[in-house]
Amino acid sequence: MSGTSEGPTPAADLDRSAVTESDINTSGRTGPLTYHSVFTAAPLAMAVVDGEGLVVSANDTFGALFGAEPETLAGCIAADLVDLASDARTWHAYREVLRGRQARLRCTRRLKRSDGRSLWAQVTVAPLTGETPGLLLSVADISARRELQARLRHLQMHDPVTRLPNRSLFFERLTAALEEESYAHGGTGRIGLCYLDLDGFKAVNDTLGHRIGDRLLAAVAERLTRCADEAGYARASTPLVARLGGDEFALLVEDSTGTEQLADLAEAVLKAVQAPFDLSGRRLSVSASIGVVERHAAGTTPTALMQAADTTLYWAKADGRSRWTLFDPERNAHRMTRQALASTLRPGIERGEFRLEYQPLVGMEDGRVRGVEALVRWNHPQFGTLTPNRFITLAEEDGSIVPLGRWVLRTACRQARRWQLDHPGEPPIFVSVNVAVRQVWDSDLVADVAETLAETGLAPQLLQLELTESAVMGSAGRPLQALKALSDMGVHIAIDDFGTGYSNLAYLSRLPVSVLKLDGSFVRGFQYEYDGADAAGAAVPSSPADEVIVEAMIQLAHRLGLSVTAECVETSDQALRLRRIGCDTGQGWLYSRPVSPDRISALLGTPASPRA
Ligand code: C2E
Ligand code: MG
Ligand code: MG
Repeated sequence: MSGTSEGPTPAADLDRSAVTESDINTSGRTGPLTYHSVFTAAPLAMAVVDGEGLVVSANDTFGALFGAEPETLAGCIAADLVDLASDARTWHAYREVLRGRQARLRCTRRLKRSDGRSLWAQVTVAPLTGETPGLLLSVADISARRELQARLRHLQMHDPVTRLPNRSLFFERLTAALEEESYAHGGTGRIGLCYLDLDGFKAVNDTLGHRIGDRLLAAVAERLTRCADEAGYARASTPLVARLGGDEFALLVEDSTGTEQLADLAEAVLKAVQAPFDLSGRRLSVSASIGVVERHAAGTTPTALMQAADTTLYWAKADGRSRWTLFDPERNAHRMTRQALASTLRPGIERGEFRLEYQPLVGMEDGRVRGVEALVRWNHPQFGTLTPNRFITLAEEDGSIVPLGRWVLRTACRQARRWQLDHPGEPPIFVSVNVAVRQVWDSDLVADVAETLAETGLAPQLLQLELTESAVMGSAGRPLQALKALSDMGVHIAIDDFGTGYSNLAYLSRLPVSVLKLDGSFVRGFQYEYDGADAAGAAVPSSPADEVIVEAMIQLAHRLGLSVTAECVETSDQALRLRRIGCDTGQGWLYSRPVSPDRISALLGTPASPRA
């Protein structure tokens, strides 16, 4: 074809199918080179089919494929030989080609050879142009190509270390399982997932090397596969075990029967992984944390399922590892609320969504209101009124406690001054403001306080700051200087929730602290409870030891020059006994819940409750 390749090549000629009827009917194998002899000798299996779909003539390769002499195939139904009727779409297309309404049909078929072996065949049916209407049917053996494709796919879809399905295959299966047609008909319509992560795998890898790490992963994979096989025994399907990457594995349960099935599987996996591994003479122990999710397949997406599994795995790890944890929608909602709250904190402060309530601090001896504690509330536009334990930690985490605390301080001081001005005939009440440790560190608390007092005209003695024990313990440097400066100013410092932390009175006495607020848990132990074991039905003290400890604590505090406030006083009996052991002030529902500023105004000048 050097330079003069204008004319058609023989192959192109053959493609144009210039096969005539006479060619086909002549069995001139030894004659001169005709298209028929080319047809006969071609390595591609071919047959000519008439307008009725019957084989007119087949070549040797075609005959060999079906284990027959080519001549004996004449008259056979072509569609049967190459399985064209088994699916409706192919059958329709074939009919269209036969009728001359469609140019060509190409499909892949799994055929059986005469020797019983099967092959993958690419079947092509195309019209023959020429005088006689008819079709050329050709069958190419593509088994080798298919096998290569399958091997490539296997390589692409499996992890070389463990030989397990990899992330791609896992997601393919998961996506398929969540498609409606796969769960809508029959089955349970549910899906389950154990998402697993090895505890301490990184340490194995780092200390013993990647080779041992890989062998450990392979050994874990084997055990997981065994668990899946056992779980699948006597059930419709075996869970799919996949390695999602690193030391993460997943077991996917299609058609799950409920959380119990998943719990059993997770339990079995946990146990299997915990048994020691013997790897090249080394004994290794690892454990796993597992997040378990089980739900209806309808309405679930792969992403949603994986997110839930990821969150749950995180809980399992946070709860102490070596355990499985079941997805809990409420806990998840809480997590989401946390995020939603954190992101709306700062704008909320700017928009003025916070307000203060005040709870009276009452003298134990006379029942008079001495002061009030300011307690912050958040009127959240989406979540309603929120108490501080929902958002104070978040505010501390992201630093918004500083502007929030400043707002609380200013508002509380202004309000205390207002009461003083509104009730000139009464002794003024002090206001007690909670201060988070971060406010001492991250802001100039001393300057803020001085400024606020100056601006509002409140006397420093009428301001008390509440810090927790842990916030002031070990304080040196800046926090200690701040406390000293505040105390020097005349501001009172109280230790909040005393008794829940170190309870080191001797240490506290060296700090500029003047008040201890005894944690509610002590007072709770104070009430007489109705004890069913008492035959006479008499009330007995629930924990007399608390009373002894608290009494000693109050005495010591007094000797160190501190006054004591009891929190959470709920019953008159608790109040009675607190008074008896020398407690100075009390705070709690017995006297009043935290209330709005006008309710405090109304209380001023009258005892807050009947004398305890
Ligand atoms: P806290 O300083 O120990 O405040 C006392 C808490 O006990 C308040 O809860 C109060 O409503 C509750 N309480 C009062 N009397 C009783 C009672 O008789 N029984 C029971 N069971 N509870 C009672 P609240 O308002 O939810 O505040 C919780 C905590 O949030 C406070 O504990 C305080 O640590 C913190 N907090 C409140 N406001 C602020 C603030 O403005 N800044 C900072 N940093 N923390 C604040
Ligand atoms: Mg407090
Ligand atoms: Mg407290």
